[in-house]
Amino acid sequence: MKKPVKCAVVSLGCPKNLVDSEGMLGWLAQNGFALTTDLERADVIVVNTCGFLKAAVDENLQELKRLAKLKKQGKCKGLIAVGCLVSRFPELVKQVVPEVDACLGVGEYHRVPELAAQLTGFPLSVPKSLGESPCAPRIISTPHWYAYLKIAEGCDRTCTFCVIPAIRGKQKSRPIEGLVAEAKELVGQGVKELILIAQDTTRYGVDLYGKPMLPELVSRLARIDGLKWLRLLYCYPTAVSDRLIEVMASHETVARYIDIPFQHSHPDILRAMGRGGDDELFSRLIEKLRAAMPDIAIRTTFIVGFPGETERHFEHLLNFVREMKFDRLGVFAFSPEPGTPAFHLPNQVPNEVTRERYHLLLAVQREISLQRNRTFVGRTLEVVFERWDPRTGVYEARSQYEAPEIDGVVKVKGWMNDGLVGKFANVRVIKALPYDLIAKFAVERRRKNDRQFELRATDRV
Ligand code: SF4
Repeated sequence: MKKPVKCAVVSLGCPKNLVDSEGMLGWLAQNGFALTTDLERADVIVVNTCGFLKAAVDENLQELKRLAKLKKQGKCKGLIAVGCLVSRFPELVKQVVPEVDACLGVGEYHRVPELAAQLTGFPLSVPKSLGESPCAPRIISTPHWYAYLKIAEGCDRTCTFCVIPAIRGKQKSRPIEGLVAEAKELVGQGVKELILIAQDTTRYGVDLYGKPMLPELVSRLARIDGLKWLRLLYCYPTAVSDRLIEVMASHETVARYIDIPFQHSHPDILRAMGRGGDDELFSRLIEKLRAAMPDIAIRTTFIVGFPGETERHFEHLLNFVREMKFDRLGVFAFSPEPGTPAFHLPNQVPNEVTRERYHLLLAVQREISLQRNRTFVGRTLEVVFERWDPRTGVYEARSQYEAPEIDGVVKVKGWMNDGLVGKFANVRVIKALPYDLIAKFAVERRRKNDRQFELRATDRV
């Protein structure tokens, strides 16, 4: 029998890219390719790239160069670069990594099986149907208890620092019915947490239904039997409506968590960024969210060193952060990206000033985060166990207040094997660190056969 052609997909960048990569895995499998995560043994390596910021461009080119070595060593027959970096700088990719055999921009992913076949002589007859969405059929690559659900592609906003609309085009929402069907299928497969993503989740539906439909979508998804947490990422601040807050608050399955990238607090800088809102509007929104869901964890990101940001603007931002006491906060140093309006703005902030502001804002948040974490000491939290370290016997877990891969973790001591990975149970917080919590098992242990123990009651899976 002929040996199967093995393909590997390397996903770089954000969860939106990951969903695209999962789609590519699905199409490759449907068309008869074998899948592998062992890059040394792959006949074809597909690299889904990120080209959002200069730092990402550099990192992605390095990664492509590293993988190109496998081709030079004769281990892999084909190297295919796809995604944002390719759409943004196709010539650069070919120039820096000449070993790349083929480049496919955003929106051309369906051609991956055809190219993999050409590069390996694989007899691909007719590429199988790709389904109604660019995400179907997917092979989920996240741990089995959570999955991302990409509800729209592209973005209608005009943030002056951002290349995404130029790369990914205008927003294209997926129909509600298809999303609900996909979500049910995922939950049927054992997924307990669904994470809604898009460039701007709050604008979901405007292109398709003529109005924002995120509240309706959330309300449909939150009622899926077997779903434990529904999490919302990438909400645009001025578009978080009262209706959305009401829907979130009325469903227990909606995680008490929201990610709203505010990007700045000063109206001058927000205007220069091409973004709506100001600090007053933002603080009213935060108040409303906390009134409706007192335990909600609010995550945000800010950009420091945007052109024209003076000491006064930055002080405004620091004060805003001190007052709002965000539960989670990420900081980006402004990166002037060719092709964006902000690249040409006057009064660019020197790098060393931007760096200083970056560290200062993080230091302010570190203290806020520690204070906030201390309020959890003594509380019982339901968590999902994600990793177990055999050397220390410590589990890394996550409650509804933490999103995977971007927030801190709950470290839980006191278990003797990895048998709880993917399960939910209650733990009691015993110590706060600036970003993580330390906890121990909150459930009573029952002696069984003198040596074994088991979790009671809240062990759901
Ligand atoms: S909302 Fe702004 S920052 Fe986000 S993807 Fe759209 S244009 Fe870029």
